Amino acid sequence: MIVVAIDGPAGAGKSTIAKALAIKLGVRYLDTGAMYRAVTFAAMQSGIDLGAECEVAKLARDCTMELSDDTIIVNGVDATQAIRGPEVTSAVSTVAMNSQVRTELRERQRKWIADHSGGVIEGRDIGSVVFPDATLKVYLTASPLVRAQRRVAQSGGNVDEIALAIAVRDAQDSSREDSPLILTSDAITIDTSSRSIQEVVNELEQFIAQKISDE
Ligand code: C5P
Repeated sequence: MIVVAIDGPAGAGKSTIAKALAIKLGVRYLDTGAMYRAVTFAAMQSGIDLGAECEVAKLARDCTMELSDDTIIVNGVDATQAIRGPEVTSAVSTVAMNSQVRTELRERQRKWIADHSGGVIEGRDIGSVVFPDATLKVYLTASPLVRAQRRVAQSGGNVDEIALAIAVRDAQDSSREDSPLILTSDAITIDTSSRSIQEVVNELEQFIAQKISDE
């Protein structure tokens, strides 16, 4: 079973590269950020205080998520667009600090990988906590300016404002107590600032082939 764990800050190219790599390897792709966004969306819809740890955790446990490569249905509602909107984006790191939410989503992520016999899974704590024994651990990064420019190209907005919002979210994700974003010593690091998607995917494929032949 191949499990490729891809972690890194916002805008590093994780989703694009994870999707392309999964296609090349003939496995499925899981975006764990979409799961944290889905819980945030559900909490905002229900009107509960995002800081109310037990209530948000209960909602996470009760919430249904149907994830496909292009859509996400949360409690029967198509939330594909809404989870990428500015309201969810600015609130998601608060929900992601909730340890009970993390426990629930971690279990769902491990079950998903078991049900799909492996896959490419991306997030913030995949190589460090969710799959510490992954076949390959990758930490993607890029310069703050490139990361902000990518987000502006995707969803519009002002580059300085987006850069600031990304910096705030990264700081929250890296400093939280439970499973913060960290670079583990056994991960390969790739700076995607001036690399094409294809180059990075090819490089990762070579690392995976090497790992498999070493086993
Ligand atoms: O990857 P994306 O930007 O969609 O992730 C949204 C948020 O979800 C992150 O900023 C982080 O707060 C949270 N997250 C997390 N752990 C993961 C994936 C995402 O805490 N494994």
